[in-house]
Amino acid sequence: MSSINSEIEIYNNNNSNNNQKILTNQKEHDKVQLNELFVSIEGEGIFAGTKTLFIRFSGCHLKCYWCDTKYSLSPNSGKSYTINQAKHLIFNHLQPNIYKVNFTGGEPLLQPLSLIALANFVKSELDIKTYLESSCFDWKRFEMVLPHFDICKIEFKTSDSKVIESKFHNNLIQNELKCLELALNKNDKISFVKIVFTNSTTVNEIRDLITRIFRCSNINNLSGITLQPSYEFDSPSTEHILKVYDEVYPFYNDVRVVPQMHKMLGMN
Ligand code: SF4
Repeated sequence: MSSINSEIEIYNNNNSNNNQKILTNQKEHDKVQLNELFVSIEGEGIFAGTKTLFIRFSGCHLKCYWCDTKYSLSPNSGKSYTINQAKHLIFNHLQPNIYKVNFTGGEPLLQPLSLIALANFVKSELDIKTYLESSCFDWKRFEMVLPHFDICKIEFKTSDSKVIESKFHNNLIQNELKCLELALNKNDKISFVKIVFTNSTTVNEIRDLITRIFRCSNINNLSGITLQPSYEFDSPSTEHILKVYDEVYPFYNDVRVVPQMHKMLGMN
């Protein structure tokens, strides 16, 4: 086993009780717990500005201190639906000119079988592009759902996000790197990287992260890198935004700083 996979195994084994619970729950794969569905304008990443149907899955076991969807973190938030009910719900929320459907959260990979069922419905039966927004905490689940997605936003969590105990942070990054590599290896996907940063995110951490990202195989298939300044929580100064940009530019001169546009528009 390569060292990258060994590290991931350690992370996953340390979380095995939690994962086992999740998979046990997911045996009821004819059900899905959804927090909300709504149509809005995509405000993040390389598809900012597109009319999008958002499907927010309930539950997330991570703890980003700047999380802006805390109301969705409980696995019991929202409502439970059968897969057929959820398909009807999606159909009823459709509007003209929807560019893509975002499967977001919470953390959609916590309900992988339901995620596959609904993504497959959107992609194959409704013929609309499917977009996965995940923390990429588990590459095995990511690999399982990947065939059902057209667009993958791979988000890398910096240590100051306090997403996870610091001793597990490197393993989370290893999972995220593995997910990026899996997506880049598929030529039919549009895959891009998003990094949220605060005023406390160090340029050393950004440099280290971007160096590791550019060691991934097939990195030439990358469709973008967006740097997202945190909003309201320890927001970075102009000087810090420019410093972070300057760390990434030598690796990828199409890097973009993209703030959460939907918040400026007063939208969801
Ligand atoms: S991974 Fe996403 S949903 Fe989970 S706590 Fe972090 S920002 Fe919130």
